[in-house]
Amino acid sequence: MVPEAVELVLDHGHEIGCHGYDHSPDRAFDLMDLDEQILELERAKDVIEGVSGRIYDFRAPALRINEYTIRALEETGFTTDSSIASQRFDGPLTFGSKRKLKWLIAPRSPYHPSYDSVVKKGGSKVLEIPISAFVSPYIGTVMRVSPAVLKLIEKIVFFESSKTRKPIVFLFHPNECLDSKPGAVAARRAGNVVEYIFADVIRQRLKVRNLGLHAAELLEGVILRAKKVGGEFMTVREYSRVEG
Ligand SMILES: [Zn+2]
Repeated sequence: MVPEAVELVLDHGHEIGCHGYDHSPDRAFDLMDLDEQILELERAKDVIEGVSGRIYDFRAPALRINEYTIRALEETGFTTDSSIASQRFDGPLTFGSKRKLKWLIAPRSPYHPSYDSVVKKGGSKVLEIPISAFVSPYIGTVMRVSPAVLKLIEKIVFFESSKTRKPIVFLFHPNECLDSKPGAVAARRAGNVVEYIFADVIRQRLKVRNLGLHAAELLEGVILRAKKVGGEFMTVREYSRVEG
């Protein structure tokens, strides 16, 4: 982590959250038990808070969380999570997609999850603020792979929000604005050939489309369209203070 980068983000009025300590697939949160998740969150929190001051929000790498995550977040002082994409359906194009089928039943508006199931309302103190989705997720990858599909999802989630005041959450990795290194091949992760073709080959090819300056321009389009319909921009902390 580059401390100056964190300061730059804060200087521009954004909020710093936590995306875990390790982004590798074999260290995903849904593979860890409660104690391991607590250790992982404490490790990440210590490093980030050393630079940013107190943090409150979490999003799991690859959105992979399990039944222990909400309790682990509470134990380590987090108050919000944004790792659920309600009604997103990935088919075979992503890892852990069987587990993610549960997303189809997740509430669309922010909710306090139950300790037994992150996709059900319950008594936890953590506020789950779902990533916007309508079958397809409202995220940077879709924006880059198919700007037209993104605009379609956008029309739906903008309309929904105008009726329900539900916040719109667009997921974007800042590193999508960096050019990819040609020839960089991802390590094979899938267990069988079919899974390999879908989840590794196709996915990796799509994921590098429109990176760099193209991604920055497309992102600007997303922001301008939200402004045009009178969207109000706020941090997770600001939102949870008012609505949580
Ligand atoms: Zn990530």
